[in-house]
Amino acid sequence: MWRARIFDFILFFSALAIAVHSRSLEVHTNLFLKALFLFWVFSTLYHHLRVVKKTGSTNVDYGISYSLSFGIFAGPLGLFIFETIYRFTIFFNRKRTKTADPEEFWDTFYNIGSFSLAYSAAYYLYNLLLPFFEPLPLGFWILLFLLVVVSSFLIDTFLICIFRILGDVNSVRDALDFYKSRSLTDMGKTALTNGLLLLFIHDAEWGTLVALFLLNYLVSLSFYSKSQSIQDKYERDKFEQMAYTDFLTGINNRAYMDLKIAELSQTEEYIGVVVADIDKFKSINDNYNHSIGDQVIRHFTKTLKNYLNANDSLFRSGGEEFTLFLRNRSYSQCVDLVERILRGVENSTVEVEFASEIVSISYTSSFGLYFYKISDQVPLEKGYIYADHLLLESKQDGRNRITAVNGCVDAGKTVLVNN
Ligand code: GH3
Ligand code: MG
Ligand code: MG
Repeated sequence: MWRARIFDFILFFSALAIAVHSRSLEVHTNLFLKALFLFWVFSTLYHHLRVVKKTGSTNVDYGISYSLSFGIFAGPLGLFIFETIYRFTIFFNRKRTKTADPEEFWDTFYNIGSFSLAYSAAYYLYNLLLPFFEPLPLGFWILLFLLVVVSSFLIDTFLICIFRILGDVNSVRDALDFYKSRSLTDMGKTALTNGLLLLFIHDAEWGTLVALFLLNYLVSLSFYSKSQSIQDKYERDKFEQMAYTDFLTGINNRAYMDLKIAELSQTEEYIGVVVADIDKFKSINDNYNHSIGDQVIRHFTKTLKNYLNANDSLFRSGGEEFTLFLRNRSYSQCVDLVERILRGVENSTVEVEFASEIVSISYTSSFGLYFYKISDQVPLEKGYIYADHLLLESKQDGRNRITAVNGCVDAGKTVLVNN
């Protein structure tokens, strides 16, 4: 960490040396103070709209910087004064709101140094190259764009040095990826904004300058709010998805099943409600271990899933108990499908590692199937309870079987599909 601190101070004192060496402000003090005040107010105001991206252990801010135009306008000394006031305002503001990183004080020196150096370089290049670019069509704008590219490159290089010291960048490829993360659109936006600011200060168009700052702020604010609400929605969706997903199997859980029951209860469709349960599962846990039991549950899930199509639903409704809603099928198609699942489970094995050996575990399962038409009299909750009772019958009758009832034809008539 101390190496990073030394690097921060090298940047800071190099920037200070250049500022002192340049000796005087480029402009009249009154004009300088007026511009300093406006740039300080709007840079500070704009600061909370910057995008913060975490790279390794460091937070990197992205947003339009106004320092290029201020540096070209006021020279290295003026720029250094601006950066110092602006960066310390941010620092104290973050301290006040308790949002400062632990290293924020030292990072402030880094920021002052890094930005002052990069935009001082831009200032010297601007004065050197302007005579060559001015005669060209759009020469001023091309030059500004090039200066944004050069200063961004310098700022990124300083950051890469810090990341290298902190161990967050370990190869040339990491460094190149970091450079590539800059977008040309953002650089174009920065060049245009700073070019306009420079022209307005030059002509002392203070009203227009403020209008441009405000426009920039409002446009960013509306994008920021939009991206924030997209982000909020994304997080809500993710949270909801987590709340409805069973972690062991990745399929929907009991809470989601309740939602689906409520949704399907609005319909009057024919449905095959199936409750499936692994036979003598406790003995798998006992003979092997809980983790192998988990693998069997996952295997059972996969098998069930293989037989279903997009309209059907599958839920883990209990430990090793699953519920299926079979849709767009007749009673006999439902029986036929569940029978195929039963055979599929019976004829497959789960390969697991137990006591350093690969073991094949076979298991069977039992099913209750209740087929009927959803109605107000018999809502889906009730259909599920019937199917669960039918499962119990399968268990009592010896397991590895299906007990099915067609509720539409003749209530109480049970079809037994025996082993
Ligand atoms: P039956 O044929 O009557 O269904 O017998 P069973 O042994 O399967 O009976 P029961 O349903 O009573 O036992 C289920 C066991 O499943 C009890 C519980 O310890 C175990 N179990 C529940 N959830 C999990 C889980 O997520 N992982 C594992 N490994 N075991 C679980
Ligand atoms: Mg069981
Ligand atoms: Mg059970």
